[in-house]
Amino acid sequence: MVPAINRPAVVKVNLEAIKHNFLAEKAHIAAGQKLFCVVKANAYGHGAVAVAKTCEELGADGFCVAVLDEALQLRKNGITKPILVLGVTPASKAALASENDISLTAPSLAWLKEVNCPKTLKIHLAIDSGMGRIGFSEDDEFKAANDFLKDNQQFFVEGMFTHFASADSADSSYYDYQVTRFEHMKSLLTIKPKWIHAHNTAASIFGKTVKSDIARFGIGLYGLNPSDNPTSPSLKPLVDLKPALSVETELVYVKKIHPGMGVSYGSTFKADKDEWIGTLPIGYADGFIRKMSGFKVKVGDTYCPIVGRICMDQMMVKMPQEMPVGTKVEVISSDPNAENNIKKLADYLDTIHYEVACVLSDRLPREYN
Ligand SMILES: *Cc1c(COP(=O)(O)O)cnc(C)c1O
Repeated sequence: MVPAINRPAVVKVNLEAIKHNFLAEKAHIAAGQKLFCVVKANAYGHGAVAVAKTCEELGADGFCVAVLDEALQLRKNGITKPILVLGVTPASKAALASENDISLTAPSLAWLKEVNCPKTLKIHLAIDSGMGRIGFSEDDEFKAANDFLKDNQQFFVEGMFTHFASADSADSSYYDYQVTRFEHMKSLLTIKPKWIHAHNTAASIFGKTVKSDIARFGIGLYGLNPSDNPTSPSLKPLVDLKPALSVETELVYVKKIHPGMGVSYGSTFKADKDEWIGTLPIGYADGFIRKMSGFKVKVGDTYCPIVGRICMDQMMVKMPQEMPVGTKVEVISSDPNAENNIKKLADYLDTIHYEVACVLSDRLPREYN
């Protein structure tokens, strides 16, 4: 979608908050531990190039992305630090990765055997210690991969890593199980990966003790707490986080409706008295799904509910009194105490703030301050 630069609706990204979060994490991690910023999915909706440049200037040791194209976008925009693609890249694209000095995740022995790359390819061996997603989990296959990689000039084993399913949970039993599995897989290796890593934001900021040569810092960089239970004392972040993202628009149309008149498709909202209704120029095509109807956004200084169904490109709010066209509307606030902060919206939608941020579509321009 084309960024709608001639419409009053933007995602505002506070790069000072990103810097704050980066430096707070940097101060927190162990001496010698590398800090890789996770900027997949357009930096969780915050804008991958701007965020990566900011972090590289501050001394990030590397970056993680989900797909090869995200890595190529960073290289095209001058990012020079290591970049690791966390997902499975087709083996046929290995040459493209190595030409651009991009490290790939090796998910299986079959994948390693399929790679045919003229230049040495940097790889990180993925271990499935219990996430059930990608990576080695069987001893025999992993030992065979170890033997295959010995004295193999085609590959440089830059890393070995695993990913936790529940480092954000106060119950650490499954986390402990995964650590045990990961330690076991490590013990099978005779080759020596340069970096062995396991920390995501949760494992890092909640002080999990697993050894990790790299912290893969994702959601925390954006100032958001990954805890599934923010009030639990065992999940108190050891890093001070400042949310960076807000979404702002304005009233583009205002009218009074009368008893019996409906608002939007299906007329799910019908006035039983005179009501002031304002229209916002954003909808589900911008990433605000229909389930958001009923959530309160801040119109001027007043929280007002979205009424009726959210349309593809517009939505309506019910206001206590007439407010002029052009009144600022804060859809998502970066203030963690505001009623319309991203966590509140995620709770309202029965989802997580990760999802709310990364579905914000590219029709919303990103504005940096
Ligand atoms: C997304 C991802 C991360 C970052 O997770 P956060 O919870 O955002 O810190 C780290 N490692 C892997 C493998 C991932 O897929």
